[in-house]
Amino acid sequence: MNRFQEILHKGYAQTFEVTKVLFHEKTEHQDLIIFETPTFGRVMALDNIVQVTTRDEFVYHEMMTHVPILAKGDVTNVLIIGGGDGGILREVLRHKSVEQATMVEIDASVVDLCQQHFADISDGAFDDPRTNLIIDDGVKFVAETKQRFDVIIVDSTDPIGPGEVLFTQSFYAGCHRCLTDGGVLVTQNGVPFFQGSEVVDTNRRMGKSFKDNGFYTAVVPTYIGGFMTLGWGCDDTAVRNVSVKVLQDRFQKANISTRYYTPEMHKASFALPPFISDLLAD
Ligand code: SAM
Repeated sequence: MNRFQEILHKGYAQTFEVTKVLFHEKTEHQDLIIFETPTFGRVMALDNIVQVTTRDEFVYHEMMTHVPILAKGDVTNVLIIGGGDGGILREVLRHKSVEQATMVEIDASVVDLCQQHFADISDGAFDDPRTNLIIDDGVKFVAETKQRFDVIIVDSTDPIGPGEVLFTQSFYAGCHRCLTDGGVLVTQNGVPFFQGSEVVDTNRRMGKSFKDNGFYTAVVPTYIGGFMTLGWGCDDTAVRNVSVKVLQDRFQKANISTRYYTPEMHKASFALPPFISDLLAD
């Protein structure tokens, strides 16, 4: 194979030049391929949809972690649903306030193969004593756990295949049940230029459980179509509206170097252009 084509959106695709396929097999849950490219470094796709590349992974992993953790402040207990490549786990554990990061990933093969082929992305996170890795369906876990979390990060595939259940109202209600007071849920919520219905659906479903729900954005080159929306759910509006000054103080205290996240980018990411905010009016 010298080309990999992702066709996620009708009539529009992205194609990668492939210099080497490192792994390609069907796991218990999905088709998993890992390959080398000259432009985006090493890439993993699940069911032919790009999940992570070594070139641009920092954008998504920084914005899905530092935004909820620094907005909430004093976060000690984090739940990650999905996230098999370990990038979210790595960024969560950079916060010294975090005492435990529980990661519930449905596909053990993704964790094993990413530790083998993307060691730089997890960067030892799976061996951190604060990591509690559980191989299970995220829906089942949030329905049954007695634990409570300050932040829940849903780093899922798209709403097709095993990830579909992570976009339901009952799943969001389960997450709401597992959050501490003022706790924050953030979710991978697609590219609204092509997947606007995911914003409409999540807004309606999350709104049934959370007093304050909405979206913020990030631009990840290989999640094609411009802005990516990240879902936000919390019962305390003050958390989303935290000031840049407070974020600057917390960011400085956290002493974390980043390549995309800054307190100013954090605040700006909640400013939605009309083509996205109009979807919330539905
Ligand atoms: N950052 C990527 C994105 O935005 O599309 C997602 C990366 S991560 C590899 C997605 C993970 O979600 C996969 O490892 C997949 O196995 C996991 N996953 C899918 N459905 C799940 C479920 N129901 N419970 C737990 N993990 C799930």
